[in-house]
Amino acid sequence: MTLSERDLKVIWHPYTQMQTAQPPIPIIRGEGACLYDQNDKCYIDAISSWWVNIHGHAHPYIAQKVAEQLQKLEHVIFAGFTHEPAVELAERLLKILPANQAKVFYSDNGSTAVEVAIKMCLQYWHNQGLRRTKILAFKNAYHGDTFGAMAVSGRSAFTAAFDSLLFEVEFIDLPNEENISNLKSQVSNLKSDLACFIFEPLVQGAAGMIMYEAAYLDQLMAHCREEQILLIADEVFTGFGRTGKAFACEYVSVDPDIMCFSKGLTGGTMAMGLTTCAQHIYEAFLSEDRLKTLFHGHSYTANPVACSAALASLDLFLDDATDANIQRIAENHRQFALKIKDHPRIRTIRQTGTIIVMEWETGSDTSYFSSLRDRLYQCFLDAGIILRPLGNIIYILPPYCISDEQLHYIYGKIIAALEEI
Ligand SMILES: *Cc1c(COP(=O)(O)O)cnc(C)c1O
Repeated sequence: MTLSERDLKVIWHPYTQMQTAQPPIPIIRGEGACLYDQNDKCYIDAISSWWVNIHGHAHPYIAQKVAEQLQKLEHVIFAGFTHEPAVELAERLLKILPANQAKVFYSDNGSTAVEVAIKMCLQYWHNQGLRRTKILAFKNAYHGDTFGAMAVSGRSAFTAAFDSLLFEVEFIDLPNEENISNLKSQVSNLKSDLACFIFEPLVQGAAGMIMYEAAYLDQLMAHCREEQILLIADEVFTGFGRTGKAFACEYVSVDPDIMCFSKGLTGGTMAMGLTTCAQHIYEAFLSEDRLKTLFHGHSYTANPVACSAALASLDLFLDDATDANIQRIAENHRQFALKIKDHPRIRTIRQTGTIIVMEWETGSDTSYFSSLRDRLYQCFLDAGIILRPLGNIIYILPPYCISDEQLHYIYGKIIAALEEI
């Protein structure tokens, strides 16, 4: 039996309709931006393995640091105990995050980082005896797949089976020049109920890489701050260089109260999430009263091996060569966008940092489930490129180590697909 056949006997894959899906492709090894199958065919990982990989696959430096940590300490309960990698990671991250971030809470994926952020906000008010229980979020937001994270995400085909069980959230439009004053008054009308505002800064990833301007986010954040609404920046996707700066919040002047991280945090090596917060959030839980404790934790909270992967990834991330790569990718994307923006099959093209997005002209059929998506996906796979179109939307967000040659190969195949499909 092949590995794919064995897989289909025992495994249920994420986001996959198992009845109609193609058999999964076995990957044997990875190196740089390439993943290799059993025939040693290279697939260029143009989506960074679901947006997590930033330095390339099986990076030798991260592998070495993880191996060293594994031989020292693989795990320890994080209540009542601590360890060097967790403390060092928190110290080093707080140095590069917005200045008001003061404490780090560990968990193990992006959804849990969001759950923790939401609980911090709701209990922040609860601990002060105030009833602020509503959450503000953007339409089409995506904050994860657990129930709380799903509730603050836009309602869609993906949440339909659970909609009646999701708590009510106030959804507002993305801000722009025309609607910003209207949004501010909407917020002011709701303010006494609102505990917090959660948002993906600059780019709504899962919604189809929808981009919006930092200037209006900044205004909205400033307005929420005036109304004492806590600000949660979900940087699970945008963190660690994706948008061209280390964190998307560097594009705005207001510091969020809480931030969420995961995807790029360990360079795409291990599962890890973290939620950071400003000192006043932390202090709202300090009390002689045990009921004011943040009762949240996961078995693998602050796993030392994951922390060491994150530390190694941070070493690489802070190297000037990485920033040079990020700017190089952004420049390549800009040139490519200029080249194809007037193509009749391109409806829109947009870019933020290392993320470039093309929306294809499809006539009337624009649904996620459109057959165009499946044909494009297969066509790129055949060419040795992993791209996962969201409906008629194709995006590239590569590991930062991708070469110019690999990027231009991908651009070339996209242009060919524009002509053929
Ligand atoms: C992916 C994502 C999450 C959820 O992270 P998981 O690790 O997949 O649970 C949350 N927020 C944003 C913005 C994301 O892109």
